[in-house]
Amino acid sequence: MIKRVEYLVIGAGVIGSAITFHLAEAGQEVMAVDQAFPAWGTSGSTAAWVWVHSKTPGSFGRFSELSAELYPSFQTRLGTDIEYRRTGGLVPALTMEQVKKSQKLVKSQRGAGLEVYWLSREETLEKEPALSPQVLGASYSPLDGNVNPFRLLGALLRAAQRNGATFLTYNPVTGITLDRGKVTVQTKAGDIVAKKVVIAAGVYSRQIGRMVGVDIPVGPERGEVLITEPLQPLLRHTLAGMRQTVNGEVLIGYSQEKAGMDRRNTFDTLRETAAFGVQLVPALARATIVRTFAGLRCLPRDDLPILGPIPGVQGMYVAAMHSGYTLAPLIGTLMTELLTEGETSLPITPYLIDRFAESKPR
Ligand SMILES: Cc1cc2nc3c(=O)[nH]c(=O)nc-3n(C[C@H](O)[C@H](O)[C@H](O)COP(=O)(O)OP(=O)(O)OC[C@H]3O[C@@H](n4cnc5c(N)ncnc54)[C@H](O)[C@@H]3O)c2cc1C
Repeated sequence: MIKRVEYLVIGAGVIGSAITFHLAEAGQEVMAVDQAFPAWGTSGSTAAWVWVHSKTPGSFGRFSELSAELYPSFQTRLGTDIEYRRTGGLVPALTMEQVKKSQKLVKSQRGAGLEVYWLSREETLEKEPALSPQVLGASYSPLDGNVNPFRLLGALLRAAQRNGATFLTYNPVTGITLDRGKVTVQTKAGDIVAKKVVIAAGVYSRQIGRMVGVDIPVGPERGEVLITEPLQPLLRHTLAGMRQTVNGEVLIGYSQEKAGMDRRNTFDTLRETAAFGVQLVPALARATIVRTFAGLRCLPRDDLPILGPIPGVQGMYVAAMHSGYTLAPLIGTLMTELLTEGETSLPITPYLIDRFAESKPR
């Protein structure tokens, strides 16, 4: 059976669901398809910091800051407590090399107008008493926080559906054909004809891009995370590599591994992650680990988001990036502006796919 829709979003992770929600909220007819379900991909295996602090200084730092600023109103519009907490973020330094690196970052972020400060050892321990007394100082930003990824995904789905959006789950896209301004997307459940289609398939965006002869240069980077049992309040801030959830669990880990599409945990990384956790916050030595997970970050070749129209392929757009939880409210807003009005309220020029010349359609 053929379905017809104005806007089709391929991928219902946090990015695809945020775009679907914003389009539906703006009164547009929108459908999202996913080969599985919204938390199947990276969006279900994430640390979900809303993190501005160490983003590339300049345009991308500001981009992340603006998205973080949108979170309180995003939460209100979704009508559910998504456990967004603006805790402030700390990057503790335990070696002189880390001190130098952090101080350099603070200088460039402040130069670019972001609120990031250097704290002495005493100031750091006063802010975050659970940190190891070995800490030498930390960079700090009040802009950082975190969110409950599962609550956010559920809220996006429900709010999008309340506004008329449709989600077709367990429905892989198998091919795309283009004809006179209409895009036909072949799926397991049949063809879907749309005026505009957004590829928001995370690390799988490259495979979808190939269906229209375009290279979307993203690749996987594995991250592994340990989760403790719920603990009494221990951490006041979101730390680089660690945060405490609202129910008390502590998520530990920020490994960056080249492992292809393999998203299994490994003993080596889990051992290193546990050692890092206890070194940073000694009280964790008494905590019980109850779960682990591994996920694949979607890393564009230059680490910056790939956003906007696909030149030369009428009706096709892309939104593929890392830091999807930080960026979801802003990406949802900008993509909706672009799709419905043809322009965005904030320039997206640094993120257009044509910065990679070889991505042009063949
Ligand atoms: C360990 C780890 C820690 C992280 N920490 C943070 C953090 O602290 N802060 C932050 O902002 N970000 C963080 N991230 C990144 C963040 O989780 C991702 O940027 C975000 O989840 C990406 O969302 P997405 O919607 O683009 O992709 P995904 O969640 O991967 O969604 C893509 C969807 O596309 C679907 N799909 C794929 N192929 C097809 C097809 N052929 N047909 C139909 N559907 C298809 C998939 O099923 C999937 O549901 C982290 C990632 C990892 C791995």
